[in-house]
Amino acid sequence: MTMSIDLYCVLGNPVEHSRSPWIHARFAELTGQTLHYGKRLVALDGFVPAVRAFMAEGGRGCNVTVPFKFQAAALAGHCSDRVALAQAANTLTFRDGAILADNTDGVGLVNDIQRNAGFDLSGRHLLLLGAGGAAAGVLGPLLLARPASITVANRSEPKAAALAARHAALAAAQETELFCCGLSELAGSFDVVINATASSLGGGAIPVAGSTLKPAALAYDLMYGSAAQGFMRWAVEQGASARDGLGMLVEQAAEAFLLWRGVRPPAQQVLSELHAVLRGAA
Ligand code: NAP
Repeated sequence: MTMSIDLYCVLGNPVEHSRSPWIHARFAELTGQTLHYGKRLVALDGFVPAVRAFMAEGGRGCNVTVPFKFQAAALAGHCSDRVALAQAANTLTFRDGAILADNTDGVGLVNDIQRNAGFDLSGRHLLLLGAGGAAAGVLGPLLLARPASITVANRSEPKAAALAARHAALAAAQETELFCCGLSELAGSFDVVINATASSLGGGAIPVAGSTLKPAALAYDLMYGSAAQGFMRWAVEQGASARDGLGMLVEQAAEAFLLWRGVRPPAQQVLSELHAVLRGAA
């Protein structure tokens, strides 16, 4: 008798530092699920063959990270509503030879801010920095939390404008004001500033002035670990509370696990375990 195990993985470039295999292994242990979750480095021009190869090996689904989220959405035969808005996907499910795409980044971010950090987004003024795959994935779920306004600011203004335009109808339905601008035209101050740029990866400066943070604002960097330290330090120096993207990472993984396995894993427990693991490694 041959034993088979359900296979999942994360595809990205780079991917070697991904914590997703550890997170999904803990979810599986804690929920009594039998599966294997690995990581695969994919050549920059090799995303589609890598997905097809994993499907041919019997893969049941995969997460997709930088820089393949837009390609993942384009490849899928069926996209969830949130992928249709974002045009970017981080979770693929393989079923009967078909590829189903979803995006759990935004709900992961909102759960981390509202549930784990205890910060209610409704009625607040939000600034979303960036208009790449990560920003695209989080804008819809942020709107669903019914803030008073969201301003999308990006280095390249036309990308911010295109992202905002795709979300205009949702913003109107949520009665949230949606603005967009280039980083250089940004004015005003905000209750929440979310850094979804890759600026610090390239050694870039904090993309906005300290005056964008209202007193007692929340400053959230989608990155985590050393890459988030500069933004977090800057935010604390301005009197804001700072949070990195580790909670979002665990929460988006929990939503993917739920989609694949039909079981909600204990994300808060795994987040505190991961914090302890990383503290031990530091
Ligand atoms: P992306 O699609 O490559 O987009 C990069 C964004 O950063 C663009 O808006 C780009 O602006 C901006 N940018 C790059 N360098 C900049 C600089 N020097 N100054 C100002 N803006 C700059 O990348 P992505 O997929 O959106 O990912 C962004 C980050 O979020 C990544 O570091 C990723 O690790 C992180 N992330 C974390 C999680 C999590 O679970 N915690 C989930 C998703 C993503 P232009 O459009 O003008 O080039």
